[in-house]
Amino acid sequence: MSARPGVAYLVGAGPGDPGLLTARAIELIGSADVILYDRLIPDQATSMARSDCELVYVGKLPDRHALPQREIEELMVERTKAGKSVVRLKGGDPFVFGRGGEEAESLIEAGLPFEVVPGVTAGIAASAYAGIPVTHRDEASAVAFVTGHEDPTKEGAGRTTSTPLEYAGLASFPGTLVFYMGVGRLGEIAQELIDCGRDPDEPSAVIERGTLPGQRSVVAPLSRIAEEVSAAGIKPPAITVVGHVSKLAERIGWLQNRPLNGLRVVVTRARPQASGLADHLAELGAEPLQLPAIRIEPTLDTDEVATAVQAIDAYSLICLTSPNGANLLFEALAAAGKDARSLAGATVAAIGPGTADALRSHGVIPDVVPEKFVAEELVVALDQVEVEGKRVLVARAAEARDVLPDALTERNAEVDVVALYRTVAEDLDEGTIAAAGDADYVTFTSSSTVKNLLAALPGGSLPGSPRVVSIGPVTSETAREAGLQVDVEASRHDIDGLIEALVADATELRG
Ligand code: SAH
Repeated sequence: MSARPGVAYLVGAGPGDPGLLTARAIELIGSADVILYDRLIPDQATSMARSDCELVYVGKLPDRHALPQREIEELMVERTKAGKSVVRLKGGDPFVFGRGGEEAESLIEAGLPFEVVPGVTAGIAASAYAGIPVTHRDEASAVAFVTGHEDPTKEGAGRTTSTPLEYAGLASFPGTLVFYMGVGRLGEIAQELIDCGRDPDEPSAVIERGTLPGQRSVVAPLSRIAEEVSAAGIKPPAITVVGHVSKLAERIGWLQNRPLNGLRVVVTRARPQASGLADHLAELGAEPLQLPAIRIEPTLDTDEVATAVQAIDAYSLICLTSPNGANLLFEALAAAGKDARSLAGATVAAIGPGTADALRSHGVIPDVVPEKFVAEELVVALDQVEVEGKRVLVARAAEARDVLPDALTERNAEVDVVALYRTVAEDLDEGTIAAAGDADYVTFTSSSTVKNLLAALPGGSLPGSPRVVSIGPVTSETAREAGLQVDVEASRHDIDGLIEALVADATELRG
């Protein structure tokens, strides 16, 4: 046990959308020794933890209750005493119906240092994502957060707010009421409020899975909200808003205006590359489903890489055909004690803007980038470069096509083709495949994603009937050869081009 205690952090993870994690939460998650987390914490939050971080799920599971509160507190105190940096990660805000107060008290009792990191609470976030401002100059000058959990009619209930008397107080509250929990008791809550004098016609809303993919909301007068919610089959987690602001949902609701709202889109890129595409799709309203068909395996320890890197200044042209290739070339250079300066004498060509960006991030602005991002176009763009009798390096994936090296050899260049990585099939578990079953779209960003995905799927075919989106003609051809119908092909062969084509297709289909 370490002599000095660690620090405990009571951290709010926000309502579910990983974009609503605070900068401080992200920083602490990334450096924690131990994370104790609840249900409804975004996967992306825990995936930011260090690989040696102890991740303990303390929420409910179908087959067991949540760890009792006392045990959670004991675990938190014990790990902090042992000198660890302990993040207690909670949904929304830790001090809004999160028992964060009790946990802080247990740390004080144990004499341990702690910090509280507020989070975006569901009552505000889910409302905002449904287009409901909880206060409004004309509609509501106050807002109350209320637990819907406690039954005021039961003996001993209402430890906090829910005595019948307080319901009378709530009913006369001059502003918006936001109920957490208790969708199951909605009928009773509404009736109680009406019995205590709240207007039965007052607009109300229930928002299910606020800020998460598949968010739904129901708006109805207070007297009818419970039956409409049950007709819609709304389930927890959901919040209930009682107040005139609820009627603004129709006017201000913005989620449904996003071009890919509600569409489930499969992303087949390798995990590290997938996040950019997935994030962009999510911003447009889609639910990205990661089905990484491939994994990038660097092959930097080969003799051919060592030889090429050693003699890097001997090349008059260096061609990079993917961002991975560009990044790995610099990794290989760094391992040999070299940097961007060793490319100073060469013309540098990138196949497209992604590769060009990767080069720029290492301090090299490529001299040649073709308008269209396929090997054939790079060959055309390289017409302006004198290669006859010159040494050329093509640094790329092991399984890449030979269009570029062949064309350069034909022009009497002395071409070295060096594989910096290979793409291998990623194992996909049944759960991941099943989750992609009812996707609306599947995106392919290379031929290897097509081949490897189909190889990994049972029966070698896509589950369901998603529309197939391809990044360009080479990938489309591979897809067709594999028996797929390509519905959408990007006219610009990069990630932005693919997204553009997908959005155009979705917009057209939706009319
Ligand atoms: N500390 C949390 C609340 C915990 S109580 C916070 O500040 O948000 C759990 C309740 O929060 C749920 O029953 C539900 O009413 C609400 N809630 C949490 N996440 C939600 C979400 N994404 N959408 C709607 N309600 C949510």
